[in-house]
Amino acid sequence: MRSISIFGATGSVGTSTLDLIRRNPDDYQVVALTANSDVDTLAKVAREMRARVAVIGDPTRYAALKAALAGSGVEAAAGEQALVDAAQTGADWTMAAIVGCAGLRPTMAALKAGGTVALANKESLVSAGALMMDMARQSNATLLPVDSEHNAIFQCLAGGSLEDIARIILTASGGPFRTRSHADMANITPAQAVAHPNWSMGAKISVDSATMMNKGLELIEAAHLFPVGLDRIEILVHPQSVIHSMVEYRDRSTLAQLGSPDMRIPIAHALAWPQRIATPCQPLDLARIGRLDFEAPDPTRFPALRLARAAAAAGGVTPAILNAANEVAVAAFLGGQIGFLDIAMIVEEVLNRYSAPAPATIDDVLAADAQARTYAGDVMERLTV
Ligand code: NAD
Ligand code: MG
Repeated sequence: MRSISIFGATGSVGTSTLDLIRRNPDDYQVVALTANSDVDTLAKVAREMRARVAVIGDPTRYAALKAALAGSGVEAAAGEQALVDAAQTGADWTMAAIVGCAGLRPTMAALKAGGTVALANKESLVSAGALMMDMARQSNATLLPVDSEHNAIFQCLAGGSLEDIARIILTASGGPFRTRSHADMANITPAQAVAHPNWSMGAKISVDSATMMNKGLELIEAAHLFPVGLDRIEILVHPQSVIHSMVEYRDRSTLAQLGSPDMRIPIAHALAWPQRIATPCQPLDLARIGRLDFEAPDPTRFPALRLARAAAAAGGVTPAILNAANEVAVAAFLGGQIGFLDIAMIVEEVLNRYSAPAPATIDDVLAADAQARTYAGDVMERLTV
């Protein structure tokens, strides 16, 4: 029996994680479940899973959570510090599935506690990669990648070592606008952008997939998790999302991990690691799929790829600035305030206007994150007047 906490339990990844736990009730005991503001869903799953504590990020929702949990035996807590405290309860395994840099402090706290951290929350690693990897080393925590590409690379590394890697090939679906002309992209609506052709995901990552910023963030994520050098990490568009990534070794032998595009597969891998558990996911029917296609990404129509690679090369706080500006721009796009093509433009403007010394602490990262958000707001204001 392993004790488990899920940060972002009401989201897409959190819900998939709960689905797997439900199917293996004798193997896992839930400690903490968290959400940002959805009290009803959080209270419902916390009761069902007999969690020890349920934490709502938005402190104004505390009374509502407490009322919803009355008589259940589940403790209610609220606010950022409560999220951090919940991450330090010493669960054997923690799913970090908050979206955005909001997950940074809880994820760092879970790493500090020294258990196993299954990382979906890529924005925290993008923003504070060096500090996070240091923390994992210092506290002897195990960091398992849940992002499907990084989980694939991790699986392809079994039995191999980083020194023997010639290339890591990160695959990308290309998103819903892979074949759109640049001119047509200007009028893309939020509803079109969140309708991913292969994966069902939260709104923010779906927009990131559409701009391909998701692949840019994943490039930075991969560079921290698998430090082979940025020039050895390539992006390859593969529209079917069957191959989740590949590792080419120096003898030119290439390993790939394949599966249906269902996040429960990489989540199950991280949940059971180093063992395996059954999932209800579709077996891969390659005869039906028939063919797998590949193409080079187009950096002209998808400038986010260029911006992210440059930010990764610059290092220091630059990826945190890239991420913060992108979070602001994506939220504004989803809110109907800016156009699709404005997202990358805003990120580029913020990167051009703002830099800061390499962060020594998480507070430094969060200060840069806040400053970048302010700049992004300024850029948007100029756009919308
Ligand atoms: P989602 O929007 O569906 O869920 C996000 C979760 O985080 C929710 O539980 C929400 O309540 C919580 N949350 C949001 N803002 C918060 C805040 N300020 N404080 C505390 N909690 C907050 O997102 P998702 O699609 O599940 O993605 C979660 C993370 O996993 C993201 O970093 C994403 O990039 C990554 N990821 C997701 C997928 C996927 O298939 N959905 C795949 C790979 C990686
Ligand atoms: Mg991914």
